[in-house]
Amino acid sequence: MVRTYNNNSLLEQIKHATSSGKLHHANLISSGRGEDGLPLALELSKLLLCENETGCGTCRGCNRVAKLEHPDLNLTFPIVSGGATGTSDDFLVQFRQAFLENPFLDPNSWQQTIATKNQQLQIPVKEIQNLQHKLSLTAAEGKNRVLLLWMPEAIKVSASNKLLKLIEEPLDNTYIIFVTHNKGRLLSTILSRCAPWHCKPLTADAFEQHFSGEAENLKALLNMVFAPNLGAAITAKNDPSTTQIELFAHWMRTCYKGAPVEITGVVNELAALPKEAVKTLITRSMHFLERGYYHNVQATDSSATDLGAINVQKLSTAVVPAGAQLITKTLGSCLRDLERNIHLKTSLTHASYQLHRAFRGQ
Ligand SMILES: [Zn+2]
Repeated sequence: MVRTYNNNSLLEQIKHATSSGKLHHANLISSGRGEDGLPLALELSKLLLCENETGCGTCRGCNRVAKLEHPDLNLTFPIVSGGATGTSDDFLVQFRQAFLENPFLDPNSWQQTIATKNQQLQIPVKEIQNLQHKLSLTAAEGKNRVLLLWMPEAIKVSASNKLLKLIEEPLDNTYIIFVTHNKGRLLSTILSRCAPWHCKPLTADAFEQHFSGEAENLKALLNMVFAPNLGAAITAKNDPSTTQIELFAHWMRTCYKGAPVEITGVVNELAALPKEAVKTLITRSMHFLERGYYHNVQATDSSATDLGAINVQKLSTAVVPAGAQLITKTLGSCLRDLERNIHLKTSLTHASYQLHRAFRGQ
């Protein structure tokens, strides 16, 4: 069963607004990537399409929403080019499967499911036109209709005005639910027309509960590397090859050793990844190394010792106080370089040597 972990009180507020007839026709749920946003949107969809009008979770309506098969639940999500119609419909089967396997689906995991190498996720103009068309038809069951749109920040600017029109001219019994991970990238005209619902970030508790059946060291490692992005942790656990965890470990080991030929090799491997994947990898590295430093300073005995590629204990002891600041500074400026389209290999090479110095406390 899909559930939210740290936003049950928010769900109660939404339920209250719905049952008292006060739910706005356009809702904007904001949450971190791979956190409670999508599960919360699904719960709200159940509420609106439930045959008992309670989101009971057991009626035919709720069951069909849970499987993403309700005819009045329209799904829009970011896609890559190359599909037959250029709309989300081309990838609906994959989306259903990915979401049912991982209801906390994060953009990176989704991108890796459907993209070949450098393809970026986006919501094209055609998809918004498709939506307009779908909404011009009557509801299949004659009751409420829901439009669940994941990542409005991925909508092409040229399509934003069409979207605005959908929000500005509400249709009877039609509810729009946006789930955004980057509110700052949305047009203020869209923001101001939606009821905002802010999700609290996930805590270690969510990881503890979600992976309750797993070994302690695996749980600790997933939390250490991915928190608060539970969706990425689920993907990593299901298929470690998709998350570059091996590459991350390889990069860190190479930086630790500091051999120039090996550094050039790993930099080439990193630079061949899609830009978004490199960003994710660097953010993850920062997170991981900062936590490693914390463990080291606290002299806590991390029970997460090994998950194939990464020896947590070894790596975290490499993060010494003198180097900790340098690590944060180095990876931070590497991220900024990426944003500014500075030559990637140059930036990564520089970062690798800086990390080497940091690990050696120089
Ligand atoms: Zn129900």
